Amino acid sequence: MDSTPINENDQWSQKLPEWLAASKALCSEGTVASYIPELSKAPQSALGIHIMDQKGGGITAGDCGLSFTMQSISKVFTLLLALMDNGEKIVFDKVGMEPTGDNFNSMLKLELVQPGIPFNPLINAGAIVISSLIGGNGPEEKAERTLQFFRKLAHNDKLQVDLDVYRSEAESADLNRSMAYFLRDNGVLTGKVNDVLDVYFRHCSIQVRCEDLARMALVLAFDGRDPITGIRHIPRRYVQIAKTFMVTCGMYNASGEFAIDVGLPAKSGVAGGILTLVPGRYGIGVYGPALNPKGNSIAGVHLLETLSKELDWSLF
Ligand code: GLN
Repeated sequence: MDSTPINENDQWSQKLPEWLAASKALCSEGTVASYIPELSKAPQSALGIHIMDQKGGGITAGDCGLSFTMQSISKVFTLLLALMDNGEKIVFDKVGMEPTGDNFNSMLKLELVQPGIPFNPLINAGAIVISSLIGGNGPEEKAERTLQFFRKLAHNDKLQVDLDVYRSEAESADLNRSMAYFLRDNGVLTGKVNDVLDVYFRHCSIQVRCEDLARMALVLAFDGRDPITGIRHIPRRYVQIAKTFMVTCGMYNASGEFAIDVGLPAKSGVAGGILTLVPGRYGIGVYGPALNPKGNSIAGVHLLETLSKELDWSLF
């Protein structure tokens, strides 16, 4: 693979608006998430993409100026922070490395399989345990360290928690609360459940645009080093771990299908974002809040599939 910067005159970058329009037509077949009530306000027909290269050049198409919350996309980066704070041993004593095949908010296997640790850090149970492992004195400091880490990776000091979404989730999180209590009873989660969940709800509610996701993804595409500034933010080994989880579990229980159809490490969130990357080349942020039955952006997945097929991006 070459690593030439995106040239605005490239034929494919000129075709992007056309591909985006074809994918956007699918939005009407999807559903905007509403189990966190505030998320239901998102515009069903929106679709935007930002593709960033190692020089910071990029191409965009569609509704990439809109803001949305990261939701589950944040789990990739809290995992990285927890690994940097604790090392692999402590983290993987408490969360596994395998896909579940269940919904992201399922607690089924916590009781079915011994030891009762979450299967992986990208399902809710695993991400809640990861939130408990983030370093800091108390929930405020942990949440603040997480926000600062995300700001650094996105190269954007303005990233903030969307407090409306945060409150909306906190008020409607019976399932996540029950899971956290269960994990505490299993001895996997230590500390106060409310404190851990507060950190979790806050990082899920960090507001971004496609460009922020693209920049964060670019750091992963270059193994933890921001190619634009040359600054290393994350050890290569931890990025390797995160990218592997993105391939095996990043698109919920459609991860296998996504690996076949698109073939790139990716993570989606229930607000409609997808973060993905072409290793050594591009960081990509997509937003399309209408979701398919598996909970991934219906138009976003379609657009990535088109790009991957047209440009031969699959790693496999
Ligand atoms: N905050 C959301 C939740 O806990 C994240 C889920 C998601 O994006 N899949 O349910």
